[in-house]
Amino acid sequence: MTISRHNIFIIILSLGFLFLIGHTTQAQAQDTQNFTLPLDCTLNQDCWIANYLDVDKTDGAQDFNCGPRSYDTHKGTDFAITDRLAMEKEVNAVAAADGTIMRFRDGQDDWPPIMTEEIQEAQLALFDANKGCGNGVFIDHGNGWKGIYCHLKKGSINVKKGQKVKAGDKIGLVGQSGFAQFPHIHLGLYHNDKIIDPFSGKTADEGCSKPDDINPLWDQSLHIEYDPVVFYAAGFKNGAPDFDSIKIDATSAHSYPADIKALTFWFALYGINDGDMIDVEIRDPYDLVFARQEIVQKGNKIRQFYFTGKKINRPLKAGEYHATATLTRMQGGIAPIRRKISRTLRIEDASQSENTHQ
Ligand SMILES: [Zn+2]
Repeated sequence: MTISRHNIFIIILSLGFLFLIGHTTQAQAQDTQNFTLPLDCTLNQDCWIANYLDVDKTDGAQDFNCGPRSYDTHKGTDFAITDRLAMEKEVNAVAAADGTIMRFRDGQDDWPPIMTEEIQEAQLALFDANKGCGNGVFIDHGNGWKGIYCHLKKGSINVKKGQKVKAGDKIGLVGQSGFAQFPHIHLGLYHNDKIIDPFSGKTADEGCSKPDDINPLWDQSLHIEYDPVVFYAAGFKNGAPDFDSIKIDATSAHSYPADIKALTFWFALYGINDGDMIDVEIRDPYDLVFARQEIVQKGNKIRQFYFTGKKINRPLKAGEYHATATLTRMQGGIAPIRRKISRTLRIEDASQSENTHQ
């Protein structure tokens, strides 16, 4: 058997490739790190991404997907819980990967749930002084990876310097300390001291990317993906709801008596954009339209709240009322984005409730 010069060349080339492949895999194994959520919750069920990392080098803000879901100089990802009630009931902040506690800071007060001008000014001062993290934990995740976990609840940090932690281990509680307008955990990830977006695997300096040009760092089994817009809460109310009280308690009413004087349906979202259309509808027990409104969003908003409904001057029909808000975002030629949130309310029978009163 003879081996031609051509074949030898191919064999050498193949060996070269093998070496290259082996080398690359090793380098990736050393540098790649998988992360879980930094808080004990299920994404889009009881926690939501409020802000992504800002990858825009100018005064504006842009998330890794070239969307507006960030704010200028934001150095991490914000995972929000539903309301202040959830914070008081306690949600664990957890290590997003194995590691060693480098340092922590505790003792800063959580802000009251409702923002005032004074609070806003005090928070901005913290932000400008680079103390926006509030109560925070800094973890060395190994192989050049580090994570900072911010806005923990005062007095909740339960780890010590030098302590080893595993992914998912509790490090404290979700709070609202530092530069925080709502209860959330800010997770900032660094590799060799460069800030990395866990959704793209890229540095903030690399700017935004096409969806097929990303290498997310999230544990794949969690299916953590970018969402351009998301409803995070909705409910019924027997009057005009205000966003401040929803920020404290976003629970929907389950039932009302028939003699209520008004019925409204409210909802809140993250990542609404200028031009988004929302169709809101409340239907009565006979599936007839009780109230309907079309909303067209003006301006991009990180977080937005709306409600619709009407006053009532005679007892409501008893039975189940269904309300739905449907968001449509046109995107020029591509299929529109649609999101929906629904709630059901029971109106008690008027004669029955009168009987029980007697
Ligand atoms: Zn943040």
